[in-house]
Amino acid sequence: MAGPDAPDPSAWCIHGTIHREMPSVRVILHCHPPYSTALACLKDPTMLPIDQNTARFFGITAVDTHFGGIADEAAEGRRIASLFGNHSVLLMGNHGVTVTGETVAEAFELLYFFERAAKTLMLAYASGQPLNVMPDALAQKTAEDWLPYRGMAFAHFDYLKSTLDRTDPSYRD
Ligand SMILES: [Zn+2]
Repeated sequence: MAGPDAPDPSAWCIHGTIHREMPSVRVILHCHPPYSTALACLKDPTMLPIDQNTARFFGITAVDTHFGGIADEAAEGRRIASLFGNHSVLLMGNHGVTVTGETVAEAFELLYFFERAAKTLMLAYASGQPLNVMPDALAQKTAEDWLPYRGMAFAHFDYLKSTLDRTDPSYRD
């Protein structure tokens, strides 16, 4: 932590602690993208299953509604790790979103589609009309129907890298 390229303390506390507490997790991505963060700021930030993409997160998303301020203590990291349970996504109330995965491609895919799903839900909320929320059984089936598409994450990630290779290959340095 004293080196010139040390991570910032809150990243060390949260990511480091989650890695220690959840050894099967190889990748943790955390950010504050606009639609996910807007959803996280609602009184009830549940990702309601209203279409295929939002239903994809049914049963794999945990919600933390007890934001403890900017995390700078290992205790906050342990609290967050315990909230994950066997979920892959943690929507952090008044904060943002954290996803886990076995590979960078799979974690990125979850994060990418979570933000897209949050956009759909926030736009639906913005209509002011009552939402047509799927019954739990249909949402669960839809989430499971996504599982055979797991390989898409790698194709999507390779495509994004090939785009960067053409426009700005400096990320490979
Ligand atoms: Zn954050």
